[in-house]
Formats: sequence, C-alpha cells, structure tokens
Amino acid sequence: MLVVMQAQATEEQVRAVCEKIEAHGLRAHSIPGAQRTAIGITGNQGMVEIGLDEMPGVQEVIAVSKPYKLVSRDVKPENTVIHFPGSDGAEDTIGGRDLAIIAGPCSIESREQAFAVAECVHRLGARFFRGGAYKPRTSPYSFQGMGVEGLKILAEIRQRYGLKIVTEAIDHESLELVEEYADVIQIGARNMQNFSLLKRAGRAKKPVLLKRGLAATLEELLMAAEYVMSEGNYNVILCERGVRTFVDHARNTLDLSIVPAVQKLSHLPIIVDPSHGTGQRNKVIPLSRAAVAVGADGLIVEVHNDPDHALSDGAQSLFPDQFEQLMKELRQIAAILHRDVPSQPAQPPRPQTAAAR
Ligand code: PEP
Ligand code: MN
Repeated sequence: MLVVMQAQATEEQVRAVCEKIEAHGLRAHSIPGAQRTAIGITGNQGMVEIGLDEMPGVQEVIAVSKPYKLVSRDVKPENTVIHFPGSDGAEDTIGGRDLAIIAGPCSIESREQAFAVAECVHRLGARFFRGGAYKPRTSPYSFQGMGVEGLKILAEIRQRYGLKIVTEAIDHESLELVEEYADVIQIGARNMQNFSLLKRAGRAKKPVLLKRGLAATLEELLMAAEYVMSEGNYNVILCERGVRTFVDHARNTLDLSIVPAVQKLSHLPIIVDPSHGTGQRNKVIPLSRAAVAVGADGLIVEVHNDPDHALSDGAQSLFPDQFEQLMKELRQIAAILHRDVPSQPAQPPRPQTAAAR
C-alpha cells in the first residue's frame, strides 16, 4: 500500500499519517519527493482499511500490485541520488549527473599493492575505491582476503586520498566491521538472496551496493533491494555484473539491457561491473563504454598495478595505463549524454597519519 500526500501537505500531516500506520502495527516509510511525499506501508497483507484516505493532507491511498514497493517508481518518481559529503566541502554522488567511477583491485593484498592502485585511480579522477577484504571464493583454498587488516588499509586510503571506500561484507560479522570502516557496503552476487544479510544491511547506516545474483531475474534483484529498504535503509545502488549463460567466450554474459529495464521500474541508481561481467581484460574497456552509453550511473572496475601476480581476478584487472585510457573514453561518451566524469582528483593526497575510521 502507498499513501500519496498532497503537494502542499505539511510535515505534521505526514507525521500523523505515519503514526496512524504504526499504531496499527505496520511500518511507515516516508519518502519525500520533488513534488510530494509518498508513504510506503510494509507489514500488511493486502489492502488494510484504517481510514487513511480521510486524513488531512492525504491525496490518495493506492494498492501496490507489484511484489516490491519501496524500490518502485510508483513510490518515488524521481531518481534517487546518494550523497557522500567530502571533507573539503566537495561532495560525491551516485545517481546524479556525475558518473560514479569505483575502481581498485579485486582484493586488498598488501598495503603497498593497495596504495599503488589507489594512487593511480585517484590521480586519474576516480572518486571511489574498491577492494575486497573479505572474499567469497569458489575454492576454500583460494585467497580469502586480509579481513580487518584489509579494512584498516582501506581506511588509510580514504584518509590519504579522500577516496570513498566500497568493500564487500560476506556475513553478519564482516558487515559489522565493513559498516564501521567503509563508505559503501557491497553485497556480492553470491549473497544477493541471503535474506538475513540483506536485512542486516537494511539496518546499517551506510549505503549498500547490491550486486545481481549469478542467475537472478530483474524482479529478484528488485526484491533483494526491497529487503534492504524495508528495514529502513533507502540508499541502495544496484549493480549488473553479468549472469551465467551457455556462452564460453566470456566468464559471464553482461546484461546491459537490465539498465533501462531497472530505470523504468525503479528510482534506484544502477551501475555496471564490466570486470566480473566479462572476466577478460580485453573486453572490459568496450563493455564499459557500452555501459555508460546505455545510461548506467557508473562503473565498478578492477584495476591492478601487477595483474599477472594478483591474488584474485588478475585476468580481468586493467593495467593502470588501460584505466587511464578508459577514463578518457568515458569522458567523451558521458559528455554526449550530458553527464560528467571528473578529470581531476577531488583533493590532493594528504600527509599520512594514523588510520582514521
Ligand atoms: C567482487 O566485486 O570482487 C565480487 C566478488 O563480485 P561478484 O559478487 O559480482 O562476483
Ligand atoms: Mn573480483
């Protein structure tokens, strides 16, 4: 159910409607929009008659026939823009005019490796740094990540370069730590339907980057995002990272058609991962160009200073000079679409101090 408030409804009227909903044991999600506020109701089975349409400020109460509500454009017609205030007043966003470029290695392997990649992507204009400290690996014998030591290195990178940190949580325990150290909590493809983890992410205070499952439909992806939002965290970024198909010329099949499909149904930002989406370095730049051209809000791309010796996903990691080339090409495509890719670092590197969380 969805309560659409009148454009001129006051804050008190919105609050009164929320209180009435909660008094009936349901949950109210007030979502302010450019034109009017909508209040999503969760916890109900079908339409409940509690007299909301009689209340002052209410324009209409509508049944939502889709299995998801809060992710839907019915609730919020305008795009969600996620804001990341910068220390020097410079703000980064995901979902706005700037394309969010999230770049970095698959895994944090050492302080030297992580800083070498961070220096490069920062210099070339990336505003977000990726790097796994907890790695969901197919084999239990593969490198599993540095754990909290990796998170501490990431926090040092934020302190030095002002890059916002995106890193994956694989269970409740790691989510607790990722929430503390990072700017964005990544939920990986393998956990897209780990509902208990999604609910925990929904109670986190940081935005969530939700990757599409290896064989998930669009509706399943949106329902996973709904799990996060239904717990009160409305800052969700969707990510297309390729799905498993019969093809054997690439690791996965990058489904760029999901970008406009998501944009039609949902107000949430959607970015593309051309690295896991292809698994092969020579396909990463072409598919990145295509992702931006199709209207994605950004990219998450793997870059390594020495891909041949990477502990994970070296074959799909760009060399630094390839990342430079990619950024140049993206700027040109973005300009045609009236979007921007920053060309300068937001801030010069800062002298190093003890790691700040
Ligand atoms: C990753 O981003 O490093 C990762 C493991 O991605 P995915 O969950 O899409 O496989
Ligand atoms: Mn990877």
